[in-house]
Amino acid sequence: MSSRTDKHPAGLAAAESLLVAAGRDRHPGAPLNLPPVLASNFILGTARTYARGDGTPTWEALEEIVGRLEEGRCVAFASGMAGVAAVFDQLRAGSRIVLPEDCYQGVTGLAEAGRQKGLWSVSRLAVDDTDGWIRAAADADLLWLESPSNPLLVVADLRAICAASRKPSALLAVDNTFATSLNQRPLELGADLSFQSATKFIGGHSDLLAGLVTVKRDDLFAAVRRSRELRGATPGALESFLAVRGARTMALRLERAQSNAMILAERLGAHPAVARTRYPGLPTHPTHAIARAQLMGYGTIISFDVRGDAVAADKVCSHLRLIQHATSLGAVESTIERRAGIHGQEHLPPSLLRLSVGIENVEDLWADLDAALQQRGL
Ligand SMILES: *Cc1c(COP(=O)(O)O)cnc(C)c1O
Repeated sequence: MSSRTDKHPAGLAAAESLLVAAGRDRHPGAPLNLPPVLASNFILGTARTYARGDGTPTWEALEEIVGRLEEGRCVAFASGMAGVAAVFDQLRAGSRIVLPEDCYQGVTGLAEAGRQKGLWSVSRLAVDDTDGWIRAAADADLLWLESPSNPLLVVADLRAICAASRKPSALLAVDNTFATSLNQRPLELGADLSFQSATKFIGGHSDLLAGLVTVKRDDLFAAVRRSRELRGATPGALESFLAVRGARTMALRLERAQSNAMILAERLGAHPAVARTRYPGLPTHPTHAIARAQLMGYGTIISFDVRGDAVAADKVCSHLRLIQHATSLGAVESTIERRAGIHGQEHLPPSLLRLSVGIENVEDLWADLDAALQQRGL
């Protein structure tokens, strides 16, 4: 039941320390914390002339933190979806994209919009169909994996899929939003691109939108950055500042939320009003063995099916007092949402609730959940 964030590869400064120490200006007299640099342009004479193409010190602080955590080079974007779009922007006309069946609805929406315009073809595979992904790797141009997946929390065997042979020009990207850079480092597992929405765990306070794409290859770094420049998908100064501030406490927040999640998942799993609990840390989870081998922590998201129908599940949400009835995840406050009620997510079990566990006291969270489950009616 322990959180496993203490496991990190040798040779890398501990992630908790990097989160606190990276992205600082160490010159004598410099402010200890970089203030938000509100500048579109800079005095000529260096490589930094105009923010959209050359970046700003504030964006770079955020990029340095995540780049060092994932041992690659990071490009920050206006939102997670702006980062996803920059990855799709790398594709030539007629490309083949493979997406997971359980996938963030923004990503499937973007892929579908391009397919309708005739830009590319899209096929879907179950997250845990490792053989299917390995076969698909042979002729795909973009393999987009999401693990653990949203909202069913299925874990893909990333190491095996990344090791499959693919065309030299093919890209393998992993949406690392649910895992975070603390629990999983896709580039180390063999991915070309590691994506995450910084709106979630890095921001951590539900008060900003930002996205991050991290790569090892220099040509890919230049291409992703060029896409940001040409599409104007640049992060805001204040958002970048807040994301850096969020990163400073991320390890602590994750550790606490993750240990809360494990306790709540075990109790939900035994609750008579819950038909099924999905959490990668539970031994009963279908992809628990891969999660154990691949992740450094099981995360803070639990999906559970309330016994009964959508109305019963909605009742649970409306009876909660501490847990906020709101979308999104990765913040200090716990949030809950019935996912089949979301556009594009109608295929999900109607009574499935996705709970993003925050850093509140776990007994208070349990008391809230237990009371709401008891009041759901039958
Ligand atoms: C939120 C999210 C995104 C999109 O990020 P935004 O910051 O909302 O644009 C992509 N993938 C996953 C898994 C997410 O949770």
